[in-house]
Amino acid sequence: MFGGGTPELYAESYPDKRNIPRMDFLVLFFLYLALVLLGFVMICVGSKTHYLQGLISRGAQVIFSYIIPECLQRAVLRVLHYLFHTRNYTFVILHLILQGMVYTEYTWEIFGLCQQLEFSLYYLFLPYLLLIVNLVFFTLSCVTDPGTITKANELLFLQVYEFDEVMFPKNVRCPTCDLRKPARSKHCSVCNRCVHRFDHHCVWVNNCVGAWNTRYFLSYLLTLTASAATMAVVSTVFLVRLVVMSDVYLQTYVDDLGHLQVVDTVFLVQYLFLTFPRIVFLVGFVVVLSFLLGGYLCFSLYLAAINQTTNEWYKGSRAWCQHCPHMARPPAAEPQAYRNIHSHGLWSNLREIFLPATARYERKKK
Ligand SMILES: [Zn+2]
Ligand SMILES: [Zn+2]
Repeated sequence: MFGGGTPELYAESYPDKRNIPRMDFLVLFFLYLALVLLGFVMICVGSKTHYLQGLISRGAQVIFSYIIPECLQRAVLRVLHYLFHTRNYTFVILHLILQGMVYTEYTWEIFGLCQQLEFSLYYLFLPYLLLIVNLVFFTLSCVTDPGTITKANELLFLQVYEFDEVMFPKNVRCPTCDLRKPARSKHCSVCNRCVHRFDHHCVWVNNCVGAWNTRYFLSYLLTLTASAATMAVVSTVFLVRLVVMSDVYLQTYVDDLGHLQVVDTVFLVQYLFLTFPRIVFLVGFVVVLSFLLGGYLCFSLYLAAINQTTNEWYKGSRAWCQHCPHMARPPAAEPQAYRNIHSHGLWSNLREIFLPATARYERKKK
């Protein structure tokens, strides 16, 4: 329908661009959305799941071995190793650049246009307020000790949680740190340390998420989701209000075959895309981001509510897996499924995360 026609509305607004094949913009936009989605899913999931990392790495190796020379393959693997298996600030910087770009576009274009359309200032300043709070929790997540186990605090941590003898057996030493492993702890290979109540290593904050910073990480995730969602709502409401005020949807245009057509949704999206390309790209980005972050936030809050870490949730489904030597069931033992023994009710579980007892003890000692 939009193959190459010159609708009156479009031609009036952009007389010098009337021959642009407009369907291409929509395809480009959906391709962009798909790439944003794919990129986030790959980074978020790939950075957490060793299985997926292995799968991606093996798949990439097969593809690369046919196309790319061996020296370049080794360079790519070195870069991947640096990005995901060593502590570095790449994703922290990428995070700040993306956030900076979104807020620059918001300040530069959307804020002024929304003011012209008489949006409430409280409404327009909300994303800035969320940004400040978010940056505070982001910094705290990055710099707070997640609960590093040392010779000095090893005994304290050993008393905090009960050993379930399935996922966390008693009297196990970390082969790298040579410290006794408290229940719910794990050695982070990226940071090279054992962390108490280990949740996961997050590349976006370049730190482990553990007993002492899960509260900051959850607050960071909550404010980041809220700021993306607020920006998505403000930008979408702006575009909708603009369409309603301009009466574009009441107009008609002439299609490729010379027929008079009523403006429909696809035409409107196309029209907005050509009039405000940066804003439409921003809306696409923040909407996808809001859904992804919202989904991950719900999952994290669910785990917090049932007092389970991401590490336990991941290992729980693999308990007694015969392929994993550390979990292999002794031949004589009865099959025993992992059972979460640390949940003591919603409020108690949340208090444990937001007011960790061991953090208070450490502070008193200092
Ligand atoms: Zn260790
Ligand atoms: Zn770590």
